[in-house]
This record gives sequence, C-alpha cells and structure tokens, in this order.
Amino acid sequence: MVTNQYQTAQIKELDALHHLHPFTDHKSLRTGGARVIVRGEGPYIFDSEGHRILDGMAGLWTTNVGYGRKALAEAAYKQMLDLPYYNTFFRTTHPPVVALARKLAEIAPANLNQVFFGSSGSESNDTAIRLIRHYWVLKGEPQRRIIISRKNAYHGSTIAAGSMGGMAHVHAHSYPVYEGFRHIMDPYWYGEAKDGETPEAFGLRAARALEEEILAVGPENVAAFAGEPVQGAGGVKIAPETYWPEVQRIIDKYGILLLADEVITGFGRLGTWFASQHYGLKPHLMTFAKAVTSGYLPLSGVIVHDEIADTLMAHDDDFHHGYTFSGHPVACAVALKNLEIMEEERLVPRVKEFGAPSLAKMLAKFKDHPLVGEVRSIGLLGAIELVADKRTRRRFDNLGRVGLICRDHFFREGFIMRAVFDTMVMAPPLIWTKDQFDEAEAVIRRVLDLTLSDVAGEVAA
Ligand code: PMP
Repeated sequence: MVTNQYQTAQIKELDALHHLHPFTDHKSLRTGGARVIVRGEGPYIFDSEGHRILDGMAGLWTTNVGYGRKALAEAAYKQMLDLPYYNTFFRTTHPPVVALARKLAEIAPANLNQVFFGSSGSESNDTAIRLIRHYWVLKGEPQRRIIISRKNAYHGSTIAAGSMGGMAHVHAHSYPVYEGFRHIMDPYWYGEAKDGETPEAFGLRAARALEEEILAVGPENVAAFAGEPVQGAGGVKIAPETYWPEVQRIIDKYGILLLADEVITGFGRLGTWFASQHYGLKPHLMTFAKAVTSGYLPLSGVIVHDEIADTLMAHDDDFHHGYTFSGHPVACAVALKNLEIMEEERLVPRVKEFGAPSLAKMLAKFKDHPLVGEVRSIGLLGAIELVADKRTRRRFDNLGRVGLICRDHFFREGFIMRAVFDTMVMAPPLIWTKDQFDEAEAVIRRVLDLTLSDVAGEVAA
C-alpha cells in the first residue's frame, strides 16, 4: 500500500503526466495535484498519507453497502474462475445474467420485466433513447422522436445522454447537441419559485411546463419524457409533492413514454428499491447503474415495461444495439451478491426507519447558519445551499467559487461533500450509524464556520 510522502508525490506526478480525469479543470489539477485514495473500509476511505475520510457521497452516489465487503470480492473471484467473460449476443446467455435479470424484475415496479444491460449510466440512457425511438418506429409512429427532459438534468456524458441532459456546460462541449431533445424548467422551488409561490403551486406550474412543451411541439411528435426522480448532479433538487402526480397525469393523457433515470435513486436511496415506487410513478423504461453493484464493478441497464418488450418481440428483425460487456458475468454475480447483502441487512427499509430521519434532523440544525439559504433532503440525499443573503436568496458572485472553498475545507477536515456550484450535496452509503451522523454533524458545523470566515465580507448581516 502507498503510505509515505515520496510515493504519494510520485503518484501525483505520474497522474499529472498521463491521466485525464473526468469533469476536471486540467490546468488547475496539474498545479495542485490529485488526492490519492488507497483504501476503503465501511463508511470511510483512506488517502495515501493515512488520513481517514468519512465518505458523505458514497463514492459517487454509488457504494451503498460501504467499502471493504469481502463477500463481493469472493463473488467476483468465484465467477472469474467459473466464467470470467462471455458475450450475450448471438443467442447465448449465462447463469449470472439470467439470475440478475430475474431479480431486477422482482424488485422493479409492476410490469417492468425485461432488462437490457450495459456498463455505465450514460450507456444505459443511450440504450433507452434508442429503445424509445425504435419502439415508436415499430408502432408505426416514426415521427414521434422528441424526448422532453429538464434543464440541469444529468443523464450522462456520451453525446446522446449528454444531449438529453439539460446542463448547458455539457452541451457547450458536445456541439452540435443531438436534435430531438427539448428541455423544460426543473422543479427547483428554492431557486425558481416566484415571490410568495408555495411549493405546491410551484410544483404544479413546473409539471405543467411539460404539457405546454408537448402542445408546442405537437403531441404527435413527442416520444417520451425523461427525468431523474430526484435531480442529483443538478444539486439534489427535490420536486414538491404536487409535481410527479401531475407529470404522470400529463404522460398518461398524451400517451407518451416515461423514462425514469434511476441511476442515483435506484437501490434504496429513498428507502424503496426504486424512487419510482416512492413516488408511485409508472415508468415505461427505468435506467440504473452505480449502486446495482455498489460500485464494486461497472454495470448498468434499462428495465423495460412489458408493452415495450412485447412490441420488440412482435417484430422479427434485429434491434441493432448492444455492448461487448452487456450482462458481463462477473459484474452480474457481484450485483446479485450486493442485492443479497442489502436484503439480509435490511438496508433499504432501514433508510426510511433510520437514515432518512437522521439525515433530515442533522441538516435541519444548519438552517439558521448565516451562510445557509436552504437545507433539503429526501431519503439519503441531502443538500445545503450556500447564499450571500439568506433573506433575499441572493447568490455569491462567481457562482461555484464558495462551493469549492467549502468543499476543500470538508476534505481537509476529513469529510466528503460535493459542491454543485454553491450547493453542497451528500449521499451517504446506506450503512451509516448514529456515529457517522454525529461525526458528519460536527464536521459540517466546523466547515460552515470556516467557510463563513473566508467569505464573511460578502455575507449580508
Ligand atoms: N444518470 C444520472 C441520474 C446520473 O447521476 C449519472 C452519473 N452521475 C448518469 C446518468 C451517468 O452515469 P455514468 O457516469 O455511469 O455514465
């Protein structure tokens, strides 16, 4: 294991020489160097200098059962000896992919029974986009190509998934954005509500933006609506309670498909297997990735409604789409073991019983802090918005600057929260006990005060 300074410096140097990181300012990375993470144990990660860090982000919304699970390593080892790889093209299959598909059908919402596998969330959304368009061609309505999603949505960073996402800075780098995507407002009450507008009224207004867009482009041209049940990378934006029922009503009214992107919200994050179950949604396609293996290996997929599967099966032509690693046997074996652990340890119901109320209670303690505009949480997803003036909701100049100051304090203090502009977000693993919540609370208090003293001159009294 790498533990001494010299090796750390060497790793940083080689990293700067040879490694292009995702979503990174490459110039600044090369002046500051990367942090070297060498080990994980339960809720903690350890860096190369021996610091123990509480991981408030479960890796990247991913390691739901925590680090260091021997059973997952053993499942991979055994499967590698039995069958490390085989493809699932050309009419072949293997036991782990079948068992996992069966298990996913069991825990998914009603009528979602068939799974197409990939290796990343982006891939699964690309698959979903192709399935949606192929479905409408097969139904004899090929003009239904438009997929409506939301501003600030994150669906991945391949060109198609990035185009379906609603992040302007992602679009800017993949120009030209694929045609056929429209982006409506996101259901972000704190940032978008009009003066005096209640969350309930705002939720209905945001949902009705979908109907307005459908009418604007012509209902006969709309293929689907895509949304993350809770916007994660966009800043843990939790729709008001009125939002999803109204969206579902509009989807039903116009007969379009619903793609629920459950890449973050799947596998227990809201205290149900999938957030669609929490919100009572009836998706036609549900994409998943990340926590299906708790991140121990890459695996993703789309679970589709019987209506879509039946339509595919009614036509004897290939669906020309697939990946070398669709249904990778080792990843599937690890996913099965991961889901088994979640069941044995009751990690999903435990989110409702313990994790969600603990997180909400902890965050509520910071809502009076001078830097904090709003705290919000649902299940094990939480956010703290930092603002310059909490009375008027005025942001800091140069959005994102204060978030980074705060994030760096967190890291130095041994805790990971991610900055989405000036919103600090967290998604702890499902295994946190009272000790971790207490530890997080103490660090957050320290870090908010440290950040406040750095920017005190900019904060309204
Ligand atoms: N969808 C959502 C909702 C996500 O949060 C992410 C990644 N954070 C993705 C898709 C893309 O997943 P990946 O990075 O595995 O491609």
